[in-house]
Amino acid sequence: MYHSVRDAQAEGIRDPDGLCVRPGDFAAQMRFLRDTGYTTLTMRQVADVLAGSADCPTKPIALTFDDGERDFYEVAFPVLRSLGFVATAFVPAATIGDVKHMTREELRALARQGIEIGSHSFEHRPLSHMSRARQERQIRESRLALQVLTGQPVVSFSYPGGYYDGATLRLLRHYGFRTAVTVTPGWYQAPGDPYELCRVRVLATHDLATFARRVGAPPAAVGPSAKRAPRLARHGQGRSPDGPAGPAPGRPLTRADT
Ligand SMILES: [Zn+2]
Repeated sequence: MYHSVRDAQAEGIRDPDGLCVRPGDFAAQMRFLRDTGYTTLTMRQVADVLAGSADCPTKPIALTFDDGERDFYEVAFPVLRSLGFVATAFVPAATIGDVKHMTREELRALARQGIEIGSHSFEHRPLSHMSRARQERQIRESRLALQVLTGQPVVSFSYPGGYYDGATLRLLRHYGFRTAVTVTPGWYQAPGDPYELCRVRVLATHDLATFARRVGAPPAAVGPSAKRAPRLARHGQGRSPDGPAGPAPGRPLTRADT
């Protein structure tokens, strides 16, 4: 899970939570994934794998980028494209085209080139703090806006700040979403629970060895269902500080691992 790929220190940006991964570090992380044989999946492809309608590559990884910030298009995407990688960008529809975020044209270009555009709600507010009617607007309108923009179905969702409740889950199903990603740390996904998928955050403080450890749990070290379990990398959540470098193999990450 990524959030932003930029050099916060050089740009004089406050980044107390380490959400801005430096471009050089990001490029090294992507080269590591290429050199160690990972295959990237979009979340749409993850949905196919979880549904059993597509085979899972031997070393799968789903790269996700939340918030639709412009540096995804300007910095991260060229690296991904050069390596033949795909990814999913989760975009709050109301922010498209403002000063910090990608434009309509940029999002259309990404969608044409294999980047999945998923919904990060309409206004990026905590869904479980809202009435069901307001939640429905956030989900329905973001999906519609992004589908009209990209010309592609919007089937993947990321909860802003990780906040959701039972109404959110029912609405996502109703509006045709196939998966949703949380901010719950973890590698292992339950195929029967595609609306509460875990992710592994990548932070500015992670050197390459830490990154490798966090994405590189050997499949042999985990449970029997793990061979078909895509690993999801995600952006860091708001105020959660980073913690230990990685989990012990064989158990889900816990909140304390993030
Ligand atoms: Zn977000």
